[in-house]
Amino acid sequence: MNKLILKAGREKSLRRRHPWVFSGAVHRIEGKPVMGDTVEVVSAQGDFLAVAAYSPQSQIVARVWDWKPRAIDAAFFEERIARACALRAALVPATDTLRLVHGESDGLPGIIVDRYGDVVVVQLTSAGADRWRGAIADGLETVAAPRTIHERSDAEAMAYEGLEPRSQHLRGEPLTAVKIIYERGAAYETDIAGGQKTGFYLDQRDNRALVRELAEGREVLDCFAYTGGFSVNALLGGATHATAVESSAPALDRLERNLALNGLNAYARAEGDAFQTLRRLRDEGRQFDLIVMDPPKFAPTAASVPRAARAYKDVNLLAFKLLRPGGLLFTFSCSGAIDRLLFQKIVAGAALDAGVTAHFVRHLSAGADHPVALEFPEGEYLKGLLCRVA
Ligand code: SAH
Repeated sequence: MNKLILKAGREKSLRRRHPWVFSGAVHRIEGKPVMGDTVEVVSAQGDFLAVAAYSPQSQIVARVWDWKPRAIDAAFFEERIARACALRAALVPATDTLRLVHGESDGLPGIIVDRYGDVVVVQLTSAGADRWRGAIADGLETVAAPRTIHERSDAEAMAYEGLEPRSQHLRGEPLTAVKIIYERGAAYETDIAGGQKTGFYLDQRDNRALVRELAEGREVLDCFAYTGGFSVNALLGGATHATAVESSAPALDRLERNLALNGLNAYARAEGDAFQTLRRLRDEGRQFDLIVMDPPKFAPTAASVPRAARAYKDVNLLAFKLLRPGGLLFTFSCSGAIDRLLFQKIVAGAALDAGVTAHFVRHLSAGADHPVALEFPEGEYLKGLLCRVA
């Protein structure tokens, strides 16, 4: 078999079961593996460490499939998919709108699988995942029996692996243009083939539920609203009014259809850049009782953290200024490069500069369908704080 032999001492992270091999850790390569091939990872002393997928164009030159010698084949993928589905069946409250496979944390690096009722969407963003497309689709057909399997491999991550983005039909009936999905009794029109991520932000499910629980009688500002997951839930929870800030007109159009689908109408459209819109609202002296701040990934890499930190601080400072006394701020960061503690410090700095006293009363995160393998902290990309201003 093809082998990656590591430099002396570079086996440590693998011994702790961290599933990535960085290119700088490789001493030499035995055989002639090509992109996506299964390779054995071996220490400088010749000890077996893992079987992994080879990705020559990426900084992460191999991603671990397993920690013991074994064949990587169709049976492997079926077994891992079944294990991932079993975790959800045990821990996620009854819903058919959820993430079934969460990449590295489910022992399937580069593989994301989301379920929207009878449609399953796969995102294959590593060379190994790309190689095993057919076996992954087979495993999903056996384990999840969907009507349709669609591939949405157009994440930025693709470029780092030297893979082409694609949105394509894989199995079963072709997708219809838009799909109505359901979560806790609310309906959402979702563009699986063309929307952001795989169409919907499944990771915010628990936080949408909490917004619904706490929105009664509150005037709401939903920033970076996309198709309105938070606005819909705020209004379903008895909010008096919701203003949605979002730069994408098609997303706001869909948000409006989602409100209508759920019989909701106490809403204002604030189309445009959130940084400018928040300043305008501040200058107009507007005030709200509940603000959701759910920006896109400001820090896609470690190098962009300082700049991202300033952007997070800016929007949170404005949010604190826009809250009435007793107001609630649901604030999030989905930047993997910014950890919980740093995010808390940024939010604390924002409150300080806004001149408000605030507590955070809860940590927020993705739900149980986005589990984080203990040895893979990078899996916890979404973090948030629920703050209350005095
Ligand atoms: N809260 C949403 C998900 C937000 S994703 C939900 O729960 O579904 C981030 C959103 O921010 C995207 O819809 C993107 O179009 C929007 N966005 C990105 N940059 C923006 C900006 N500068 N101003 C306003 N919206 C922006």
